[in-house]
Amino acid sequence: MENQKKLKVLIVDDSENDALLLVRELKKGGYDPSFHRVESESELESALCEPGWELVITDHNMPGFSSREALELVKKANLDVPVIIVSGAIGEDVAVSAMKAGAHDYIMKDSLKRLVPAINRELRDAETRREKVQAELALSHMIYHDPLTNLANRPQLHHHLQEALQQSLETKTLVAVLFVDLDRFKVINDTFGHSAGDNLLQEVAARLRRCVRYDDIIARYGGDEFILILENILCEEEAGVVAELIIKMISEPFEINGHEMFIGSSIGIALSDVSTDVETLIKSADLAMYQAKSVGRNNYQFYSPDMDDLAERRRQLEQSLHKAMSRDELELYFQPQLCLHTGQLRGAEVLLRWHHPEYGLIPPDSFIDLLEETGLVIPVGDWVLRTACTLWKSWQDRGLVPKEAIVSVNISAYQFRGGGLVASVESVLREVGFTPGSLDLEITEGTLMENTRISQDVLHQLKRMGVKMSIDDFGTGYSSLSYLKRFPIDSLKIDKSFVLDIVDNPDDAVIATAIIGLAHNLGLEVTAEGVENTQALEFLKENGCDFYQGFYYSKPLPVEDFLERIA
Ligand code: C2E
Ligand code: MG
Ligand code: MG
Repeated sequence: MENQKKLKVLIVDDSENDALLLVRELKKGGYDPSFHRVESESELESALCEPGWELVITDHNMPGFSSREALELVKKANLDVPVIIVSGAIGEDVAVSAMKAGAHDYIMKDSLKRLVPAINRELRDAETRREKVQAELALSHMIYHDPLTNLANRPQLHHHLQEALQQSLETKTLVAVLFVDLDRFKVINDTFGHSAGDNLLQEVAARLRRCVRYDDIIARYGGDEFILILENILCEEEAGVVAELIIKMISEPFEINGHEMFIGSSIGIALSDVSTDVETLIKSADLAMYQAKSVGRNNYQFYSPDMDDLAERRRQLEQSLHKAMSRDELELYFQPQLCLHTGQLRGAEVLLRWHHPEYGLIPPDSFIDLLEETGLVIPVGDWVLRTACTLWKSWQDRGLVPKEAIVSVNISAYQFRGGGLVASVESVLREVGFTPGSLDLEITEGTLMENTRISQDVLHQLKRMGVKMSIDDFGTGYSSLSYLKRFPIDSLKIDKSFVLDIVDNPDDAVIATAIIGLAHNLGLEVTAEGVENTQALEFLKENGCDFYQGFYYSKPLPVEDFLERIA
């Protein structure tokens, strides 16, 4: 019995004796059958609800019931197992029509020795059919899904969006397309490696799932781009709520391969009242996403038609940006920083300007992200650093700035990666013959928090060189106190958003005062940026802030004007 194959058989026969004969035949043929006999339509129907049948053997003629009805029921139950008719003599035409109705074989009761070979053959065939169906399912899953995240892929997205749009016309509702792009994903990929990047994308996919209804479509559109389709939307706000939730979920820290990682997301939303064309809708959501990125990341924007012009302008900017350096269109402005208590010059912040041949003077906020996206921020950042140090050194040598005054240079997240920054600072200091202590690098909190371990390494290397370091725009990011203690920095810069209104807005005043206290507790100096009037100046002085910069004393100025202003 041990080597016998188990087989779960459903026998449709009004004679118990005949059924036992069949079972004996199966046992002889090497099977260990467990069987159940039914003899009416209703019995068969309820037996078919039970799972696990591997074979159906049916008589042809039973009282009030025939193999024809039995075949119908098996078909209706969607059961793909061999069905074999075992019966006394029936006409050839009946046998043929039974085969057509789905029977796999027909065996006469007096030649039962054919039964087991027929079953062997049909079970093998059924297995092959099952494998084929499974392979087809797997293949179609592969064709329509992104293998990494298991989300829908582009073709699947297009197909679904098309359908959703069609349906929305009938139901008179809207479809919203949410274009989600991760902020600074590339940095994570470059610093932690691709496998960590992949894990992060999978985590993001899982979090996105939790932001929408079970049957809403989520697709991976590109490397770090995702698209969500929301159906049956009645107004903008509904999509806005989902976008807010996504931003919140993605901004929670990720734990990947033992590292804590922070990323953000920018979301563009286009609703089907803009267009019911799939391509146009996706393009509009993409444009809105760009807008979200340029107004400061970690936010969402709805598409509006004027974004088309912006996009065009951006394309042109990008083209001309490639030529800006070689055409000498970039210039450094200097904004004085002063001691709040003595009024003496502490130094100056270097701020980049671009003289665009067509658009005139462009402030950095409208092209720094372009520089970063195109990778131009590396050579441009290098140029800023070198030029600033060269100028400052010549002013020191000529006695135009006090010996102890320092020059502050902004460093982008992209420059901060890998160790390229350390090498670049080192070579500039050496080649220019610059005193390291006269150079201050301004780095934002976000940059440091992207990879706290690498940040610590880089900061310590710079510290060993004797360079000063400040955290810029402090208060707008994570403000993680535990890291603040571990980073070897010299000062904090209170973001101007807390300073501009410091006199009238009590919240801002509280935050600014807290930052001053925090900095001093940690032994750091603190600079306020955005000081525009005497009241702000007095407030900061009273609350112990060390330095300030702002329009009150001077706007950022071109070289000649700067030297004149501080003389
Ligand atoms: P930031 O480093 O926080 O620079 C301070 C910004 O505040 C400057 O804007 C400055 O003009 C402005 N500001 C200073 N005082 C006042 C004031 O009293 N009132 C108001 N309303 N604004 C004031 P700017 O020059 O447009 O630069 C914007 C940002 O662009 C900078 O913010 C910095 O993050 C970035 N940036 C500028 N130059 C460079 C650069 O060479 N490299 C990199 N990576 N980023 C740069
Ligand atoms: Mg700065
Ligand atoms: Mg700042």
